[in-house]
Amino acid sequence: MEISANTQALAYLVSAILFILSLKGLTHPASARRGNFLGMLGMAIAILATLAGREVQSYGFIIAGVTAGALIGGVLAARVKMTAMPQLVAALHSFVGMAAVLVAIGTFLNHQVAGTLNPVLMGELSAGIVIGAITFSGSVIAFGKLQGLISGAPVRFAGQHALNAAIAVAAVGLAIHFAATGSMVSLTLMTILSFVLGFTLIIPIGGADMPVIISMLNSYSGWAAAATGFTLHNNLLIIVGALVGFSGAILSYIMCRAMNRSIVNVVFGGFGSESGGGEAAGAVAAEKGVKTASVEDAIYWMEDANRVIIVPGYGMAVAQAQHALKELLELLEERGVEVKFAIHPVAGRMPGHMNVLLAEADIPYDHVFEMDEINPEFASTDVVLVVGANDVVNPAAKSDPSSPIYGMPILEAGKAKHVYFLKRSMRPGYSGVDNLLFYQDNVSLIFGDAKDTIEKMVTELKGGGH
Ligand code: NDP
Repeated sequence: MEISANTQALAYLVSAILFILSLKGLTHPASARRGNFLGMLGMAIAILATLAGREVQSYGFIIAGVTAGALIGGVLAARVKMTAMPQLVAALHSFVGMAAVLVAIGTFLNHQVAGTLNPVLMGELSAGIVIGAITFSGSVIAFGKLQGLISGAPVRFAGQHALNAAIAVAAVGLAIHFAATGSMVSLTLMTILSFVLGFTLIIPIGGADMPVIISMLNSYSGWAAAATGFTLHNNLLIIVGALVGFSGAILSYIMCRAMNRSIVNVVFGGFGSESGGGEAAGAVAAEKGVKTASVEDAIYWMEDANRVIIVPGYGMAVAQAQHALKELLELLEERGVEVKFAIHPVAGRMPGHMNVLLAEADIPYDHVFEMDEINPEFASTDVVLVVGANDVVNPAAKSDPSSPIYGMPILEAGKAKHVYFLKRSMRPGYSGVDNLLFYQDNVSLIFGDAKDTIEKMVTELKGGGH
């Protein structure tokens, strides 16, 4: 069935509205499912309207491509672990970047054969190729760093910024030459230089900063899609590209603000190291008098507590401790203990990381609190259980101007009567700095995998406690 251009435009308008409603839904965990559903509906309408349009000349290649893509995407999405989500997203951005490059080159060749090239079109094509190629190679590097295929340490060398600036200027110069002359040589060189630029821009950035970079690349992939939309005269692609471009940019900004860093500092700062410190810190810290505790000690204070606050962090995601935490929550509530979860805006390794995991374990939303809501409650809390979190409760952020996290707002866990840290060693978190809270009198560490420790707590509570 072929639809008219007007019907297609109407369908695109409906899709665009659905995409905007989808973004709105994704702003809160309670409405995120609806948001996802609206996005899927919008995309289904967009694909059907495009396939039914007049531009499509044959369906053979389209069906083959869609089937192969759907199979690969379906298998990857079903298999990916929550902790590997950032690299999956990086891989997906690289596809968007490559698609933009290929579509632009394909469009150029078509118009060249038809003799319909013009400078405006070639300017659009250049934008698609440059942004797409940077997005592609930058995302491949981001994927490699997060997956551990290449070193996560910042790779720096003298003259790095000058080199990047020179490549960028050369690529833009070639783009202008290409738009003016249609020269194949300029097109080829511009494409190669843009791929190189994505590589040299992202390789110096520490693996620890990759989530912000991914959100930035997400924004680039949106602009690449918008450029493709101009090339193909597809309004929906322009709208969607702009939505992705702006939401990625806003997300990068929010993440930077929550870490009290500027995007310039993230891109040029070389923050974070590959492993974030070594075991040797354990010995040093033990000498300084860090207290350790047993599961029984913690349960002793928790079962008679009025209020327990749980602070989840990246380690909860690594240990997959959220389901065990749900059980702990239920057992404590049966004993009349009020249990709340405190979420720092940058806990974990991507925005909303903790919320997603707690939701997966069916922990009710009304038990989950944002930092500003819960901070006043720590002082009147009996026990805080810090489950694989570290930086987000580190008072160095307030008291030590030389600390890399200085200025980052923190969860004020240290104000509670008793604080128990569940972690495996004395290794620091993402920022690589020692946690000053460990040395406070009311704080003890319970070493071990977070899930194992919580499961032991559950067993202890079921067995009647001490
Ligand atoms: P951190 O990275 O500060 O600390 C995580 C802790 O989890 C580590 O100290 C580690 O200690 C522990 N851990 C790891 N695996 C396990 C396990 N299996 N069982 C128990 N503990 C474990 O995490 P936070 O969530 O506190 O802070 C997030 C950090 O990431 C912040 O610095 C933030 O700025 C940064 N960040 C966050 C982003 C986001 O969007 N959320 C994006 C970019 C950066 P040990 O090895 O001893 O077990």
